[in-house]
Amino acid sequence: MPRLLILGGTGEARELGERLAARADLAITISLAGRTARPAAQAVAVRVGGFGGAAGLADYLRTQRIDALIDATHPFAATMSAHAAAAAAATSIALLALRRPPWRPVDGDRWLNVADRDAAVAATGNTPRRIFLALGRQDLGPFEQAPQHTYLVRSVDPVVPPLRLERVTYVCARGPFSEADDQALLNAYCIDAVVAKNSGGPATYSKIAAARHLGREVIMIARPAAPAVPTVETVAEAITWLDHDHALTAAKDRGV
Ligand code: NAP
Repeated sequence: MPRLLILGGTGEARELGERLAARADLAITISLAGRTARPAAQAVAVRVGGFGGAAGLADYLRTQRIDALIDATHPFAATMSAHAAAAAAATSIALLALRRPPWRPVDGDRWLNVADRDAAVAATGNTPRRIFLALGRQDLGPFEQAPQHTYLVRSVDPVVPPLRLERVTYVCARGPFSEADDQALLNAYCIDAVVAKNSGGPATYSKIAAARHLGREVIMIARPAAPAVPTVETVAEAITWLDHDHALTAAKDRGV
């Protein structure tokens, strides 16, 4: 039976697993990095933890006799995506990236586009402000360079160790959040600016819509460069690729 490995950690990876789970003609595993203490349940087999770089992933693809690889990691998981491209090239295994499109500003948005986290820190300015860091725990460290501000941090798991900053409020919560939730949050903490990564997709858009509605600034961090591999934007397109375009037909032709 053809074997598919999905690199996950996103809603799209989970949805892809759900939509393929009933298929009797395909053995599917989702791989998670293991960052969250209580990851969301998945509909297919799960393996957890790093592979040990691109070479480790290539070994895994060979030893597990994987026929197709779908990189459905988050658009900011640039290292994993680079490793997926290198491992697929080294093993000649079919690779598809499933990457949702970035958000685009619309009327009423007050976005300040920046290239990366350090540029986001610089863009917060010298004047003390009240800033909502709508970022992952691993993205927060650079803001220790801007202790003049008062911060709000929302995360699924607690931020341990806490940031070396005097004025931070931590809120532990798991989304999805509604625009009303996020308007209430921005108002409750008198937030002047939101710092966000341009993740795309509906799941984390509420803070962007809330900031627009309230006329607050968004410091928007652009995505890192992605490897040049075949890429689709939706789960449906990924399933089409599997069934028609390449991966499984190639495996079936080999008699797998
Ligand atoms: P990253 O910087 O690109 O990857 C760092 C290392 O973590 C990789 O080299 C790999 O270790 C391991 N890794 C990452 N994703 C993995 C996966 N799906 N399965 C097994 N190992 C994985 O990744 P990241 O930005 O820390 O993100 C970690 C996970 O969280 C990803 O699965 C991503 O989809 C998810 N996520 C990330 C963000 C974000 O903003 N970055 C947001 C939401 C969800 P080895 O080199 O040892 O293989």
